[in-house]
Amino acid sequence: MITHTAAVAANALRAGHLVALPTETVYGLGADAANPSALARLYAVKGRPIDHPSIVHLADLAEARTGWSSTWPAAAERLAEAFWPGPLTIVLPAGTRPDPAALGGTGTVALRIPDCDLTREAIRLSGAGIAAPSANRFGRVSPTTVQHVLDDLGSDVDLILDGGPCTVGVESTIVDLTGAAPRILRPGAITAEMLEAALGISLSTSLETAPRAPGTLAAHYAPRLPVVVVESLEEAISLTDRQIALVADASDPRLSPQPPHVLALLDTGDSAESYAERLYSLLRQADTSGADLLVAVLPPIGGVGDAIRDRLTRAATSA
Ligand code: AMP
Ligand code: MG
Repeated sequence: MITHTAAVAANALRAGHLVALPTETVYGLGADAANPSALARLYAVKGRPIDHPSIVHLADLAEARTGWSSTWPAAAERLAEAFWPGPLTIVLPAGTRPDPAALGGTGTVALRIPDCDLTREAIRLSGAGIAAPSANRFGRVSPTTVQHVLDDLGSDVDLILDGGPCTVGVESTIVDLTGAAPRILRPGAITAEMLEAALGISLSTSLETAPRAPGTLAAHYAPRLPVVVVESLEEAISLTDRQIALVADASDPRLSPQPPHVLALLDTGDSAESYAERLYSLLRQADTSGADLLVAVLPPIGGVGDAIRDRLTRAATSA
């Protein structure tokens, strides 16, 4: 069932149902983060191992300061003031409010306030914190539209709150504040430079694999087609021995006329922002294009381009 009404979604969440929720990043599959049976069903439906924690989504900053984490350090306050609501997740020592089933045995909690009025209202009306990993089966491409959620989860999701397509398009930046120094666990639209400016310090940007972090597993974000990433359009154009689905800026004059081995030209637009917004739709389109290989031209390093490069490189690793 699909609703456009926050109160309907809130009632379902309060009743322990699974509700797909729009956010600016991707659609999340939401469950009451204090309800162990709702969380058990969430993990079963996603096919997600129970030791992989989920981000807890909250309605507002006052809520974030009260019992979800055991500490609320000055760095958390600074980041929250600067970037919430928005695509930033903050990891802190867990408080008493999240059920351990949302935390995957980590002892830490990941908190975020999404920049989507409809979802924040649903969360506020539910009176709960909402654990919400992406609304797709474990390891598959994240959903950025209601149709993606339906295609992937079908009737396993009790309700979908329709907020239209996601505008950022890639998952949140995750910053871990539980160590001696803040550390970025996953790149997103909030860049290291933006975090450094807000915190007034320089950050460890090494994105080495953290334990129990599905978003950081090598084989993740993958479409069904094998994926190859290239730095330049020339490289893609030279791969003439395969029928490819090409993810690139379609306005590039080197693609007119369209090279014969390019079966599908999947347009990123001409900015990293449009690339991010379209990324997961393009990966899904590639799967139905009839091509036997997806070739993605990576965006330049910097800004949200780093998050796109991260997701595509992981998708390519699993091929
Ligand atoms: P998602 O799949 O978008 O829900 O994001 C899950 C990611 O958030 C994981 O890969 C972790 O990196 C991070 N995360 C979520 N919960 C926690 C937690 N309790 N402790 C540490 N990291 C977490
Ligand atoms: Mg996911």
